[in-house]
Amino acid sequence: MAKMYYEVDADPSLVLGKKVLIIGYGSQGHAHALNLADSGVDVTVGLRENSPSTDKAKAAGLKVSTVAEAAKTADLIMFLSPDTVQKKIYEAEVAPQLRPGVAIAFAHGFNVRFGQIAAPADVDVIMIAPKGPGHLLRRTYQEGGGIPSLIAVEQDATGIAHSIALSYAHAIGSTKAGVLDTTFSEETETDLFGEQVVLCGGLASLVQAGFETLVEAGYQPESAYFECLHELKLIVDLLYEEGLSGMWFSVSETAEYGGLTRGPRIVTSETKTEMKKVLEEIQTGKFADEWIAENEAGQPHFNALRKQANDHPIEDVGRQLRAMMPFLSTGKPGIRDISGG
Ligand code: NAD
Ligand code: MG
Repeated sequence: MAKMYYEVDADPSLVLGKKVLIIGYGSQGHAHALNLADSGVDVTVGLRENSPSTDKAKAAGLKVSTVAEAAKTADLIMFLSPDTVQKKIYEAEVAPQLRPGVAIAFAHGFNVRFGQIAAPADVDVIMIAPKGPGHLLRRTYQEGGGIPSLIAVEQDATGIAHSIALSYAHAIGSTKAGVLDTTFSEETETDLFGEQVVLCGGLASLVQAGFETLVEAGYQPESAYFECLHELKLIVDLLYEEGLSGMWFSVSETAEYGGLTRGPRIVTSETKTEMKKVLEEIQTGKFADEWIAENEAGQPHFNALRKQANDHPIEDVGRQLRAMMPFLSTGKPGIRDISGG
């Protein structure tokens, strides 16, 4: 088993002695800022002049400033703006203010792993990546718990960068659940692989292809929707609670036998070969180059793909069916931010 860190392993005084600048007040930003402040840390939220988040952060009792202004005195600067704008913010507002011994921190390794942000050698570069969406990070902390975090050190100028990262993880509540060491490469590459191959990309393609197969064979789109999309929730809950074997145990024997014999015909060795290629594109930086260029061009291909996905027939029938099930999406403000980082 890998080494896990818990409350007794952290030195809370390290982060308590620092002025912390949280850049951004979105999903992760609000949770980090509020958890740190409740733990007694001196926090400032860095936002654009006319940011719509300014009022929210002030109403929550937090200090708000521009990034450039707060960076002049900050000892630890956490980047929680979208990954696609971090390089610009770093170059324009953070880099000119950096002093020796300051720590810059991330909740996802993309920009450091792919060379978009390279700090001077006298600055610590660390990661504290909570393994969950921001609203859960906040809610669990308020309930007296925490969600696990990964921490990493890319650059250790102070000699205590790891202890600083662990102290920060402690202050956002993560040492209650467990903190695990990783590296910027491991976190970034596994995160991209997971979202591309299994969690988001692979799953969406599997669901669409199953739906299309049933509809093309003449079955009702409503039946195909329930079968290939709606019921996934029940199966995923079983996986989450009891693993694959718990899922096999809970479904009927017919489902178990049919699944065990047919599943490997759907995800074949050919599929796995393609997975390896996708992983290689991540490792070599090919995917990162493509995504960075796409952003520089204003996301034309991305927007076209989004439109295409949104116009798929499974979405039409799904919207109609879910409109009759309003209870599905009530009380879930964070429903749209679960795939970040
Ligand atoms: P988000 O989109 O929810 O919020 C981004 C925030 O940045 C917003 O408040 C926005 O107003 C602000 N912002 C945008 N441009 C800015 C600028 N120029 N200057 C200052 N602020 C600016 O983002 P998020 O999902 O919280 O992601 C933040 C980071 O956390 C990313 O690195 C992401 O990979 C990582 N992460 C996210 C999650 C998640 O659950 N969403 C989980 C783990 C890690
Ligand atoms: Mg992820």
